Amino acid sequence: MRSFKAILAAALLFAGGAQAAADKPLVWVFSTGGTIAGSGSSPTDMSNYTAGQFTGEQLVRGLPQLADVAEIKVEQVVNILSNDLTVADWLTLSRRINETLADPRVAGVVVTHGTNTLEETAYFLNLTVKSDRPVVVVGAMRPATAISADGPLNLLNAVRVARSPDAKGKGALIVMNDEINAARDTTKTTTYRVETFRAPELGMLGYVDEDKVAFYRTPVKRHTVNSEFDVRALKTLPTVGVLYSYVEPRPELFQALVKAGDKGIVFAGTGAGALSKLERDGIDEMLKGKGAKPVMVLASRTGNGRVIGTKEYSDRGLIPADSLNAQKARILLMLALTKTQDPKEIRRIFAEY
Ligand code: ASP
Repeated sequence: MRSFKAILAAALLFAGGAQAAADKPLVWVFSTGGTIAGSGSSPTDMSNYTAGQFTGEQLVRGLPQLADVAEIKVEQVVNILSNDLTVADWLTLSRRINETLADPRVAGVVVTHGTNTLEETAYFLNLTVKSDRPVVVVGAMRPATAISADGPLNLLNAVRVARSPDAKGKGALIVMNDEINAARDTTKTTTYRVETFRAPELGMLGYVDEDKVAFYRTPVKRHTVNSEFDVRALKTLPTVGVLYSYVEPRPELFQALVKAGDKGIVFAGTGAGALSKLERDGIDEMLKGKGAKPVMVLASRTGNGRVIGTKEYSDRGLIPADSLNAQKARILLMLALTKTQDPKEIRRIFAEY
């Protein structure tokens, strides 16, 4: 494995820089796998590679330039395709980050992650980390073995943001492609391009350029130290399912989720969160029936813009997701359900986060 040898060779260089790193800010790298740690059969293998093959330690040792900007410590949480992450993994990651940031010597943390579910983990950390120090989630679109792999520069930039005092108080951040984005507003927008993470309407927070980490705006929705959610003692979260609107839907899917034990359902309606008659009837039947009644949140399948609570949908018990996409509304609903079942309270939570 040619590239693996290259990584080991670079580790020797890194050893030379270790002493200089000791007086640098301390940044912890939590490694979870993904394409940034992926390995392909050749340098041109960009789609048949296997995610989660190199450890975080190998990625860090393969990037001697990191020693110029920070003292790095690494912890491997899992090493997998990000699609295979579990809620238990989120709880472990959040707990370890909280424990790590309790040490005042730590400037910030970086999480290396697969891009497929990166935005979900970033939003979960945005709501559950109890520190204003930077939590930066980073991935790559090309495996570590590829020509022009984007992982090494992304990782260097993530560490530069994690050690930056300007990144404090901005919640969890996503750093890729030299851009800094807010966890809440950012989504994976395209399948293979390196500029995949975008907050299309609200825009990025800043750039990571050669000269400096440059911020231009800050998120105002509640996060981290202002979040009311505390998962440190939890082993699991209430389950929430997502359904997606399309022409001639099958309303019995609502009941199927309830039967499967979901305590909440996020429904991604069309346009500004519109439901067809079949869908409205399916929800009415479920909410009026004798069985368990999930809390319903209404998002939009457009992926952009706000869903506003119209009277008709509010009367039906649907809580608007505001501008959260369905996968992020699901996370907020899971966390909300750890505290309350009261629809009024959950409505407040969706207005504030
Ligand atoms: N293709 C994904 C990535 O870009 C794999 C994953 O999410 O683990 O990282």
